[in-house]
Amino acid sequence: MSTRPRTSSVVSASSIVVSIQDYKDIKTSNVVNRKRRASSIVVTAVGEKELIDDIKIVNWTQLNEWQQDNEFIYDGYVQETNSVTKCMKSLKMMHNETINIWTHLIPSFFYLLLLIFFTDFMLEKKLTQILGSDHGAMDTIDYIMVNIFLLGAFLCLFCSSCFHCFKQHSENISNLWSKADYMGIIILISTSIISLLYYGFHDNLFLCKLFTILTTIFGATCGVFVLNDRFNHKDWKAVRASFFIMFAASGLLPIITGCFYFGIQEAINRVQLGFVFYEAVCYIAGALIYGFKVPECFYKPGKFDYFFNSHQIFHVCCVAGSIFHFKALIASFVHAKIGKHSIAA
Ligand SMILES: [Zn+2]
Repeated sequence: MSTRPRTSSVVSASSIVVSIQDYKDIKTSNVVNRKRRASSIVVTAVGEKELIDDIKIVNWTQLNEWQQDNEFIYDGYVQETNSVTKCMKSLKMMHNETINIWTHLIPSFFYLLLLIFFTDFMLEKKLTQILGSDHGAMDTIDYIMVNIFLLGAFLCLFCSSCFHCFKQHSENISNLWSKADYMGIIILISTSIISLLYYGFHDNLFLCKLFTILTTIFGATCGVFVLNDRFNHKDWKAVRASFFIMFAASGLLPIITGCFYFGIQEAINRVQLGFVFYEAVCYIAGALIYGFKVPECFYKPGKFDYFFNSHQIFHVCCVAGSIFHFKALIASFVHAKIGKHSIAA
């Protein structure tokens, strides 16, 4: 009993010191940030950084258990907001999801612009210029193939940035957007494979149809796993990465078939394998970096909280992979239009 008052007096004394310091901090903070009240930061006694609009930035130890995902990322988490408005307002702040949001939001906007304008105002004109009016016309299937890829790329990147923006809302909303994020990846892989399949096998519609059916079945199977709550758990991170790698690798089946059916050189020309190779390197490297949490796993937690962590590198790899696919698709389309295809077998 005798030690309790002494302990509490020590606590009170230290509280006073902290309070005086806090007062100085708050006073200084108010002076510096008077002109920018909307984003001014007040440091509270428990060490949380609290914004005026009540969005809290916390570290790993102050985080709800459901929000704990990557133990190597220590600081910069937005605490559960339970508010769509606060999640949207967090876009103006620097936290550890900021780079994840913008690395996919900006490219998704570019893909949306391409989806609206590219085939109608750029590709058709360019084709006529390059190939003349005999070869330059786009038919309906060309129009659909190029646009479904652009739609897939837009949906994948947009769902991803929404997930990173709204994952701090609450556990349920985070799970919902996480599933949308995975579905976006499945849609991008499916539309990438199917669009290029057409230019690989456009004069053999049976093989084109066969591989389209196979890709649809693989994509649907992945979709069933993604919508399962167990698959969403953080312990399944490596499994998730390998699942997507396997689905993307199923794109090798039509390529190998094409090499046997048309010969290697013709297969290379038909689907522009050079670009497809770079695309595969980007996606596989990105998935491995994401799955094994490189580079943060080699250092003490906290070194890559805001920049250059595995998830951000994975995002950049995804965007680069999608750009290489877009190049492959357009080059394959032009190659098919020139009419150099010849069946070797
Ligand atoms: Zn992401």
